[in-house]
Amino acid sequence: MLYLAFFIIYTFIFVFGICIGSFLNVAVYRLPNHISIAYGRSFCPKCHKQIPNRDLIPIFSYLHLKGLCRNCQAPISPRYPLVEAFTGLLAVGLFWYYGFNLTALVIFSVACILTIIALIDIDTMTIPNNLLIALSIPAVLIYWFFPEISLLARIIGFFAVSLPMFLLNFIKADAMGGGDIKLMAVSGFMLGWQNILLAMFIALLASGLAIVYLLAAKQKTTQSHIAFGPYLCLGIITALVYGKPIIELYFAFFNLY
Ligand SMILES: [Zn+2]
Repeated sequence: MLYLAFFIIYTFIFVFGICIGSFLNVAVYRLPNHISIAYGRSFCPKCHKQIPNRDLIPIFSYLHLKGLCRNCQAPISPRYPLVEAFTGLLAVGLFWYYGFNLTALVIFSVACILTIIALIDIDTMTIPNNLLIALSIPAVLIYWFFPEISLLARIIGFFAVSLPMFLLNFIKADAMGGGDIKLMAVSGFMLGWQNILLAMFIALLASGLAIVYLLAAKQKTTQSHIAFGPYLCLGIITALVYGKPIIELYFAFFNLY
């Protein structure tokens, strides 16, 4: 009976996450094009025909239409159902990890904003300022949920990575994007200086691995830019959720030797 209750609750959370994921897709498409995310119907970007309600069911509609627009048969990006499924799993994972409380909800909202930032950065190589303003709301709220990270540690965190990134631009012009710098400032306040350093380390490691992979697969040359934002977002969310155990493990490891 208890298992059934858990199954029903997590199914509900998964569906909730999928619906939020559907909204994230809308935001990723509309924000860079300056279309309101609150009003207006979704339309096919190819034939501009409004998408009927029956084709707006997350994941299911994509599978039912076999990834093609009902009107013009243009292929729909598999990214839409993937983002929906990803957000659903994210919701299940975070509520399972934190329990059914406000902490889980705030962390989930951070993860959602970071997902939008990462995808818009992939599409446009920029991070819109209004998303950084949106991120600053949970970034400040989180202080009440994790008071063990002091206000001073958070203020140092604001500058710990953003300032070196900013100064790097004087040595090599446009080495770091302005959006990336602002993202690491807001996130630095959210995480505190220890965790924002960890976030940067994870971002450098992940982007390094990705560059090696892309070079090996000959998909990119050394000349072309890669969006750094997605790797920063990956580092930020990892440090936010697992920062404490990772840093404890790190110190435990070096005390042994
Ligand atoms: Zn179409």
